[in-house]
Amino acid sequence: MTHTCHAIACETPCPPKMFMCFRHWKRLPKEHQSAVWHEYRPGQEQRGDPSLSYLIVSMRARIALAKIEQVEPSLINDAIKTLAWLESKTTSRATQASEERE
Ligand SMILES: [Zn+2]
Repeated sequence: MTHTCHAIACETPCPPKMFMCFRHWKRLPKEHQSAVWHEYRPGQEQRGDPSLSYLIVSMRARIALAKIEQVEPSLINDAIKTLAWLESKTTSRATQASEERE
């Protein structure tokens, strides 16, 4: 299986341990680069067990880059929905219950 760049709408092959192809990684704002590195755990691409925090920061990075690159808005919206779903998983049940009561 060929691993490709994680930038939205990019199909450039790159090594599995690289988050994005070199061109996209260079265009990614610094704060997103460091957030992705901060959550990255060595070997996760082989084990297939990235943390929820990693999935969230990487999705934020992909959305930010897609906006810079002016990718098709429907593709960005799909990513925003996925991000919202991931973020909802970090909310505890107790917090959700209190929100429902309000
Ligand atoms: Zn790319």
